[in-house]
Amino acid sequence: MNAAEVKQLARHLGADLVGIASAEVLNAFPPDPRWPQTPDRISPYCKSVIVIVCRIPAAAFRAKHNVLVQYLDMLVLRRMDRIAHRLCETLERRGYPTFTTAGQETDWSLKKASYGRLSTRHLGIEAGLGTFGLEVNILTPEFGPRVYLTGILTELELEADTPIREQVCIGESCSRCLYSCPTDAVLHWNIDKRNCALEAQEFGYMTATAYFDKFIGADTETRKTMLRSRDLFGFWQGLLRVVGSFGDCPRCLAVCPVGNDYHAHLTDHQKVIPERTPDKVAKAKAYKQARKRGDPVPGLDEWNIRWVGPDGYKGMVARQLKAFREAQAARAEQEQKRDD
Ligand code: SF4
Ligand code: SF4
Repeated sequence: MNAAEVKQLARHLGADLVGIASAEVLNAFPPDPRWPQTPDRISPYCKSVIVIVCRIPAAAFRAKHNVLVQYLDMLVLRRMDRIAHRLCETLERRGYPTFTTAGQETDWSLKKASYGRLSTRHLGIEAGLGTFGLEVNILTPEFGPRVYLTGILTELELEADTPIREQVCIGESCSRCLYSCPTDAVLHWNIDKRNCALEAQEFGYMTATAYFDKFIGADTETRKTMLRSRDLFGFWQGLLRVVGSFGDCPRCLAVCPVGNDYHAHLTDHQKVIPERTPDKVAKAKAYKQARKRGDPVPGLDEWNIRWVGPDGYKGMVARQLKAFREAQAARAEQEQKRDD
C-alpha cells in the first residue's frame, strides 16, 4: 500500500484529516530531548506514523455549559480509537505490522501526569496537519484547535507529508486564547501546565491524589463531609465517562478564530470574550512587542520554531475567511436562482 491508499482508507473509516510523519524525523526531533517522546522508544521497527484527526463538533461550543463539550470529547476519542484500531487491523491483514497508541496517556518513566509516550500535537505538525497556536495546541487550518489526534505506528515505509511552514496561528496580535483563559495559563508560545490543569483537569489524577492525601489525614467528621462532596462525585463521573479528567476547559478552543467551523458556527457566539481584562491585554501587548524586538522567547527558539511555523504568520486566517464568505455568497446565489 502507498501513502495515498492508506489516507483514503483512513478517511473511509471516518477520519476527518490524515497525514503521515516519518519515524526517522520524529526520532531526530523529539518535542523535548530531555524527555524524548519518540517512536524508537516504543518500537525499533516503526518506519512511519499515520496521524488521524477527528474534529469536535462546533455546536458544543455554543452550549451554555462546558459539560456538553466534555461529553462530546469522550465520544470523539472513542470514535477516533475505533478508526485507528480498524486501520491497524486492515494494514496488518495486508502484511504490515501496525499498532496504535493511546491518545491520552502518561509515560510515568518520563514525567508525572499528562506526558504521553508520543506527543500527538507534535505528530500532527510533523505530518503536515497544522502548526502550534500561542496556547501550544495544534491548530489545523480546517478546524483550528477543536480536534483530537492519535498516532498509528506502522512498519510500512510511507511517503511522509511536508510540514506546514507558514504559521497557522495569528499570534500575539490575536491573543484571544490568552484573553479567554480562566487561570492565566497561556504564556508566550508556551503554557503553564499546572495552572491549565486547575480548569482542564478539574478531576484529574493530581486532584484525585490530593483528595485522598487529605482524606487519609482527616478526622471522622471531615471524612464524612468529603464523602458527600462534589469532588468525589466528579471522580465518579470521570470513571464513568472520562468527563472532568481532562479536556475539561474548552475556552481556548472555543474562541480560536482559525477554521471554517469557527466561521460557520462560532463567530457570533464567541465574538465577545467575557474573561478579557486590562491585565491580559497588557500581557498580550508585551508579548507582541517582545516578538517584534526579536527578544528570546523559549517557545520560539531554534528547536521549537519548527512546530510554530518557521515562516511566520502570512494571513492564512484572513485568506480562509475571504474564501469562506465567497463560497457562502455563491451558495446563496445558487439557492436564490433555484427558488426563482
Ligand atoms: S484549556 Fe482552559 S485553562 Fe487550559 S489554557 Fe486553555 S483556556 Fe486556559
Ligand atoms: S486564539 Fe488566536 S492567538 Fe490563540 S491560538 Fe487561536 S489564532 Fe492563535
